[in-house]
Amino acid sequence: MRLEPVAPGSRVHLPDAAAGPPPGVPPKADAVARVRKLGERIDELQDALYAEGRRALLVVLQGRDTSGKDGAVRRVFGPLDPLGIVITSFKVPTPLELAHDYLWRVHQAVPPKGTIGVFNRSHYEDVLVVRVHELVPEPVWRARYEQINQFEHILSENGVTILKFFLHISREEQRERLLARLEDPTKYWKFSAGDLGERERWDEYTAAYEEALERTSTAVAPWHVVPADRKYVRDLLVAQVVVDALERMAPQYPGPPDGLENFRATLR
Ligand code: AMP
Ligand code: MG
Repeated sequence: MRLEPVAPGSRVHLPDAAAGPPPGVPPKADAVARVRKLGERIDELQDALYAEGRRALLVVLQGRDTSGKDGAVRRVFGPLDPLGIVITSFKVPTPLELAHDYLWRVHQAVPPKGTIGVFNRSHYEDVLVVRVHELVPEPVWRARYEQINQFEHILSENGVTILKFFLHISREEQRERLLARLEDPTKYWKFSAGDLGERERWDEYTAAYEEALERTSTAVAPWHVVPADRKYVRDLLVAQVVVDALERMAPQYPGPPDGLENFRATLR
């Protein structure tokens, strides 16, 4: 069971029914064990990527409130060496960020060579929340699809492999997760009153996500729609795509230093 990327130029539909487990999902215990194995594999490949020091992997996580972005970071990237990973959560832009173009803060957070970067939200907020709340006029956010494609193209030509995931949850699953945040004192902090306002705009967000995915899934920066109502399915699908991408990158350890035998002889 593997997630296919959204084919460039294809239509995207995000009905609630598509958020449930797809056919062929293994039982939960098997999936959890598999995610652990994939995590070990990501760790091995990351070690080589770090040693090689010439390329980076950027993973973009997008999704509605409670879609499991934080959980995916923890489950999929938790096993990695902290030295080789950079995680950035994008919040409401600060005045300094707003004083620049919307890609300014994003470009600075692109992972350096040798590392894996994870964006927990991203520049896509600038065609999602910004569109739904009309924070800029339509022609301004509409022009961003192409700007984003060009930006990602530049990154890819400079050694950054990009994978994008939309964590797709249903409205009912979100209701349960939001309610859980109001019933468990250790989760109160995750609830924000604004989440209910966002939830009321469900269909507007669906339309914004559909169009964003249609316009910005490219060969060099493909989107993947992750059916995320079940957390173990989400983790399994994301981890598998990440492993496949790293294996295609095939990072190589550098060869021996010049004079290896002399150095050995000296130390022996
Ligand atoms: P959270 O992910 O729960 O920490 O919330 C972060 C909030 O920041 C979300 O409500 C996002 O929609 C919001 N946010 C992130 N980027 C932007 C942006 N470029 N413009 C406006 N709001 C944003
Ligand atoms: Mg939140």
